[in-house]
Amino acid sequence: MERTGLPVYVELRTNRPEGRSRPSVYSWSVLEQARTFDGRAGLLDSRGRALRDLRISVTDRCNFRCPYCMPGDVFGRDYQFLPRDEILSYEEIRRLAGVFVRLGAHKLRITGGEPTVRRGLPDLVAMLAELRTTDAEPVDLAMTTNGSALRRLAGPLADAGLRRVTVSLDSLDDEVFRRMNGVDFPVAKVLDGIDAAVEAGLGPVKVNVVLKRGENDGGILDLARWARDAGHVLRFIEYMDVGTTNGWRLDDVVPAAEVVDVIGREWPLEPVGAGYRGEVAERWRYRDGRGEVGVIASVTQPFCGDCTRARLSAEGKLYTCLFSAIGHDLRTPLRDGTSDDELAEQIGDIWAIRDDRYSERRAAATDRLPKIEMFALGG
Ligand code: SAM
Ligand code: SF4
Ligand code: SF4
Repeated sequence: MERTGLPVYVELRTNRPEGRSRPSVYSWSVLEQARTFDGRAGLLDSRGRALRDLRISVTDRCNFRCPYCMPGDVFGRDYQFLPRDEILSYEEIRRLAGVFVRLGAHKLRITGGEPTVRRGLPDLVAMLAELRTTDAEPVDLAMTTNGSALRRLAGPLADAGLRRVTVSLDSLDDEVFRRMNGVDFPVAKVLDGIDAAVEAGLGPVKVNVVLKRGENDGGILDLARWARDAGHVLRFIEYMDVGTTNGWRLDDVVPAAEVVDVIGREWPLEPVGAGYRGEVAERWRYRDGRGEVGVIASVTQPFCGDCTRARLSAEGKLYTCLFSAIGHDLRTPLRDGTSDDELAEQIGDIWAIRDDRYSERRAAATDRLPKIEMFALGG
């Protein structure tokens, strides 16, 4: 099928027979479309963005209380996390992920809350690792974690088929790190977890740093030096106004350009082109050949135009944007006998009308819109 530049899914909609809400020929078209369109692109949303990545939150719980994500005074002992029966089972996650992959998703990222607090995680990884993309390739299976359990879990996760891991680590300074994780967790244990991930073959490890002005921005060079020496891929993320509980202020954001400037003055940098459409990090290479560093400028240089990510929450809601207030319930159809083809059609319908570009519109008074918390849909 030739690429027309138009969202082809919308063209297909015009073929939908009147008065039939779920014609089987239509479901077939959606799946066929995902297989053939542009070779790899899959379904396009109303802004021409394909569904390429799925972030799967396996739990809304976490053993940390990072103030920018789950501030301890809000998420205390009395906080009601989701009851067990409201959380998707691993079999349900596997089934839904399979539908997303049939629709063109190539990358699956397991996240949370903290994914490693959910029991039996390697079982899920093994189930997801069996999935094949529309090009009959294994899916690119990764996980984002706070690293606290990697010494124990890196080996079993790698054996089960996990390919890559991203570890969130906001500082190498033990005092700063303990404060930023909100539960006094020592940095040495996370560093040991990162070593375990490398030993298990999950390297190069990506390390995500959320910078908060006055908290950890004094540690940029230490982190850069450490990652250069160890061969980790470092990414500095601008602190975002996700959710409603972290008291975000623009003054707390350390702009990505400042990070590049600070590092570049110590070790000269040159830009690297984006690795693929939808890559959110702006990548910079050290001119001395010692690897690269990335910045994710979601506040100061939004990148919604290339956003190919769907997010599945632990309770089975589909969010088409990190800042969406409303998720689309997939758990109910999943549990009431809806077929995979019908699920594909429903997901395709949601994706086709997707119009999200929150970060690009941030400046236009979006701050009063209701939002969902980051830990609930997986960052
Ligand atoms: N618990 C895991 C972890 O921390 O890596 C996975 C879930 S966490 C919600 C995913 C990512 O979101 C982490 O890298 C975290 O640093 C980032 N994050 C959380 N709140 C954020 C915020 N307000 N702004 C920017 N990044 C944030
Ligand atoms: Fe937990 Fe990750 Fe949120 Fe920190 S960022 S509170 S580790 S979910
Ligand atoms: Fe994607 Fe929404 Fe972030 Fe824009 S604001 S990049 S649409 S998740």
